[in-house]
Parts: sequence; structure tokens; C-alpha cells
Amino acid sequence: MDQERVWDAVVIGGGPAGLMAAGELAVQGHRVLLVEAKPSLGRKFLMAGKSGLNLTKDEPLAQLLPHFGAAAASLAPIIAAFDAAAIQDWARGLGQPLFTGSTGRVFPEKMKASPLLRAWLGELDKLGVTQQTRWRWTGWQGADLCFDTPDGAQQVKTRCTVLALGGASWARLGADGSWSEILAAQGVGLEPFRPANAGLLVDWSAHMQGQYGQPVKGVKWQAGSSASRGEAVISARGLEGGGIYTVSAAVRDGADLRVDLLPDLSAAEITKRLSRPRGKASLANHLRRSLKLGAARTALLQEFGRPLPLDPGDLAALIKALPVNHAGLRPMDEAISTSGGLRWAELTPDLMLVKRPGTFCAGEMLDWEAPTGGYLLTGCFATGRWAGQGAARYLAAQ
Ligand SMILES: Cc1cc2nc3c(=O)[nH]c(=O)nc-3n(C[C@H](O)[C@H](O)[C@H](O)COP(=O)(O)OP(=O)(O)OC[C@H]3O[C@@H](n4cnc5c(N)ncnc54)[C@H](O)[C@@H]3O)c2cc1C
Repeated sequence: MDQERVWDAVVIGGGPAGLMAAGELAVQGHRVLLVEAKPSLGRKFLMAGKSGLNLTKDEPLAQLLPHFGAAAASLAPIIAAFDAAAIQDWARGLGQPLFTGSTGRVFPEKMKASPLLRAWLGELDKLGVTQQTRWRWTGWQGADLCFDTPDGAQQVKTRCTVLALGGASWARLGADGSWSEILAAQGVGLEPFRPANAGLLVDWSAHMQGQYGQPVKGVKWQAGSSASRGEAVISARGLEGGGIYTVSAAVRDGADLRVDLLPDLSAAEITKRLSRPRGKASLANHLRRSLKLGAARTALLQEFGRPLPLDPGDLAALIKALPVNHAGLRPMDEAISTSGGLRWAELTPDLMLVKRPGTFCAGEMLDWEAPTGGYLLTGCFATGRWAGQGAARYLAAQ
């Protein structure tokens, strides 16, 4: 690469946030270099496609924003400018038919990311975005950006930069969080990374082996003020899946986890059913017949509730609020996303670093978290677009 060339913008990080920023800059006629450390772009985005690629949640802004918790106020104008409806229009514009599930989750009909990513990269190519993979950003030398590349260290000159370097989970797909050291060395304030949307470790007794791989459906997970009716899967290491991910932030923050095994029946109704004469049936059979709990839920009741109370009222109370005894969250690198990252106070409303004018930031590297359900990609698309537009305004003002 020509060392003396000055780019209008260098976007670092080829995930959804970086691709969005690159597109916004290029569509305004700027010469953009998109740099990625890995050999190809969008690796975590492709991985998200393995579970169907939940692009967004088809909710009005007032319903969508509270899912971003403490960061909702900072994200409000950003997501308002690229909300769930806009994301769907954008994906359809790239030739991807979508469908909305019964819970409002929006997916590409093909239920994977590769066709959308291909179309998106094709669009960026048409807009003249130059791509450079296998280049790892290592910081600044004066105003220049420094990269480790297969051909040794390289420096690049640019008028502005967008950093979209991801959070700190699934490091093998690129988001290793190592950028935090570079920014910390510049005196930029960061919140420590913590796992978000993580599975739970459980030291199961040997009785549970027959349940590995079984889904737990029709329950309600509750931790602190978070609750979820989502499914979980019993695995050899514990519990995983959307139902657990939703309450995992509250568990991480110290709340006890309980599960209501029969959320659609009142304790009084359960007590009534359990009080029916049991005859010679074992307790397990009685539970099966009177409550239709099924194997997975019965196994959880036995695992976490043993010895089960004999009094029907006490047993009903346990079924409604069974304590889930776990050994904490799975390691951060296995979490779907991370909380923490760049503090909002370090950014202008345009997402530019106060301490490094001309450097904008987007995506999961910012300090926000949200449950699964399309909120994560929504936040990444919207902040990527916003940072790209902010960078374009910065260029125009120079
Ligand atoms: C298994 C799984 C399933 C998921 N499913 C969904 C889903 O269905 N819906 C949803 O909304 N979200 C989902 N997510 C979350 C979503 O994929 C992420 O939130 C999103 O990819 C983050 O986008 P980003 O652009 O901020 O970062 P990333 O996608 O992580 O991209 C950051 C990029 O920056 C690069 N990079 C990092 N450091 C450097 C450096 N120093 N130099 C150069 N490049 C660098 C990385 O290699 C990476 O490519 C899922 C995540 C996982 C792991």
C-alpha cells in the first residue's frame, strides 16, 4: 500500500458496525479503507447466522429502547435514526427477504448470514471501499495508524478513523478486546468487560446425564427484576439458551436464579392437583400424571428440589420458585456478548473520542449491553451508521 496516500477515512474492524460505518462514509463519496485483523470479514456475524441471524426485534422504539438498560438514553437518538423498521428496509434493500417470528424477532428467510454478508460486501465494493484483511491495528504513531501485517509493520495516513473492534468474547472470531489496552494507554476511560448473554455452569449429579441435550420449555426463569419465558437446553456443563441468556446479566450481578416450572398454573391450582389421591403411584408418576411436567422439568425439580416436600402446598411453592443451584456463568469468551467497554463520557454525541478528535467508535466496543433477540445487532448497525455519518460530518467540516 502507498505509504504516502492519505485516506479520507479508515474503518478498523470488519464486523456489522464497521461495515455500516464504511458504507455511510463511502456513499457520501469518501475514499474509505476498511481494515480487518482476520483473514475475512464478518466472522462473528456469520456465527450469529448459525442460530438463524436474528437481525432485529420488530418493536416500536419505546418498547425496544429499555432493553438497552443504562445505555438506553445515550443510544436513543442513534437507534431512533436506524430503528427496527429501518433495519428491515435496509436488509430487504440488499435483496434479503425477511420474516418476523411470533415473538417479533426478525430473521432473513434463509436463516443464515452468508447471503446478506455477500450482498453487503458487494455493495461496499461498488461504493469503492478498499478492503484490507490480515492487518491488526496496534495504535497510533503521531497522527498515523499503525498495523501489524504479514509484510511487517505498516503506517497509514487518514483524515479520520472509525474503530469498530467488537467486545471481548469469541476471541477466535476476532473480538478479543485487546484494543482496550491501546485506548487505555491514551487515557481513555473504559468499563471492565463482563460476560453478557452467557450460559450457566451447573455441577449436575449423575442422575442428570440422561437429560443432556434436552430442551426445557414452558418455564419462566427469574433473577432479580429479569424474567424470561425462553427455552434452555440441559448440557453436560449446565444450562444454555435464550431463556438463560436473558437473565444472565442479573445472575452476573448477584441475583438468585429461580425457575417457575409451571408459569401458567397458580400455586393453588398446583396444590389442588397434587392433593388428588396418589394411590400406589410413585411421586414421579404422580407428578407426571397430575401436572404433566415431562421428563426435563421433572429432572430439574428432582435435581434442585430434593428431598421433595410431601405437603402438596409446599411442593407447589417449590415448583413455582425452584432455586437453580449453579456454579456461575460460563467463561466470558463463551458469552454471546460482553458488557463494558468504552465509557459514554469519553464520546461526543457523534461518537467521536473526546481525547482523539477525528476518531469515532461504534458497535459492541461501546459500554452497552442488551439481551439476545436482535437487540445486539440493532445496536451495532445503528451505532456503526451513526459513527460513519459523524465521521462524514467531521470530514465536511474540515
Ligand atoms: C454465537 C453467537 C450468536 C449470535 N447471534 C446473534 C443474533 O442472532 N442476533 C444479534 O443481534 N446478535 C447476535 N450475536 C451478537 C453479534 O454477533 C455481535 O454483537 C456483533 O457481531 C458485534 O458487532 P461489532 O461489529 O461490534 O463487532 P464484531 O462483529 O466482533 O467485529 C469486530 C471486528 O473487529 C476486528 N478487530 C478486533 N480488533 C482488531 C484490531 N486490533 N485490528 C483490526 N481488526 C480488529 C475483529 O476481528 C472483528 O472482525 C451473536 C453472537 C454470537 C457469538
